[in-house]
This record gives sequence, structure tokens and C-alpha cells, in this order.
Amino acid sequence: MGNAVEQLALVKAKIADAERQADRTAGSATLVAVSKTFDAETIRPVIEAGQRVFGENRVQEAQGKWPALKGNFPGIELHLIGPLQSNKAKEAVALFDVIETVDREKIAAELAKEMARQSRTLKLYVQVNTGSEPQKAGIEPTEAVGFVQRCRDTHGLAIEGLMCIPPADENPGPHFALLEKLAREADVGKLSMGMSGDYELAIAFGATSVRVGSAIFGSR
Ligand SMILES: *Cc1c(COP(=O)(O)O)cnc(C)c1O
Repeated sequence: MGNAVEQLALVKAKIADAERQADRTAGSATLVAVSKTFDAETIRPVIEAGQRVFGENRVQEAQGKWPALKGNFPGIELHLIGPLQSNKAKEAVALFDVIETVDREKIAAELAKEMARQSRTLKLYVQVNTGSEPQKAGIEPTEAVGFVQRCRDTHGLAIEGLMCIPPADENPGPHFALLEKLAREADVGKLSMGMSGDYELAIAFGATSVRVGSAIFGSR
């Protein structure tokens, strides 16, 4: 495997191919480069190569590297892709631009409160546990549409999209199809699905963003 900048170019080329093969508009699938566990020195060349959208799964880890990187490079869009505890909502709202893991009422309420308090509007996604795995975060598929509606009606949150992490040992296709169907039912436009092993397939199923870590930065 090449260095992160070479791998970034390769992943972007594969995304462009997958868009073409699915008859999709070029650039309609956004690459979220997942930089968790990698330090600022490793991330910086990837930013210098033009990448601006990044994903982290822990608030505390992101706080250690992203305030300085965001200060140095304008236009960074940082996505929280890991579970959010309500006692971290304040820090998360201050640092992140997109939170992809809204999955319960308490988090929705905390985020609404913190965004108002900080006068910051983040883009929000609801995480759906498409495989109904007990150990995994996310709302149950049967509750997803109702939850999106409650986020809107009760908490005044504009939910932009849905996100899922299919079970590791299953064909992800049916999970991507389920997420796409739920997004239509809930009337949300964005679909965050697909990781290093399956992002091309996710694009065929309509992903508007793919979260790719190890295929860019190497194994963790
Ligand atoms: C780590 C992580 C990714 C990236 O996984 P890779 O297989 O390294 O591409 C994507 N999504 C989430 C939620 C993650 O935690």
C-alpha cells in the first residue's frame, strides 16, 4: 500500500468509477476520510492534497488534533461518526460540523439545546442499526422514521440523512438498500454508508457519502 496521499488519489478514482458505473453525477458521492487513531502529522498531507471532509469517532481524540488543523486549513468539514454521550454534546457541537450518530431522544434534546446555546447549526444524521445488532449503536429500523419525525417536530432538528454500519459478517447490500428505503420514507436526502471494504457497492446503492479510513491511512 502506498502512502496516504497516493491512497487518497486511488480511492477518489474508484469513487469516480463507481459513480460512472451507477450512472450517477460525478462528485455526487462525498468522501469522508476517516482519520481516527492517526495523528495530525499523518493527516496534514492529506489535507494539503485537497481533502477537506474528515471523520472521527471519538470527541476527546478529535479535540486533541482538529482545533489546530481547522485553524490552519479553512473549509474543513469534520464529521462525528462514533457514538455520542450526552455529557459530550457541548464539546461535540463546538468542534464538529456534522454529527452522523443521532440515535436517541436524549441526544436529540441535548444537541438542540447546545446548538441554540452556541448559535451553531450542525448537519445531523440519524444512525440506524440496520442489522439490529445488540452491541451496536443506532435506532432500530422499525423506529427510524418515527424518530426522524420526532427530531423534527419535538426538537426542531433538521435531519439531513441516515447513516448505517452493516454487520461485519454479512453482505452489506441489503443493509444499504434498507437504509435507502428508510431515507425515502423519512424524507431525508443524504445516505452515509460504505467503508473501505464496500464503498463502491454503497455508491451503487445510492450513498451520498462514504466513510473510508484504512484504505487511505492504512491499518489501525
Ligand atoms: C472506523 C470507521 C469507518 C472507517 O472504516 P474503514 O474500514 O477503516 O474504512 C467508517 N465508519 C465508522 C462509523 C467507523 O467507526
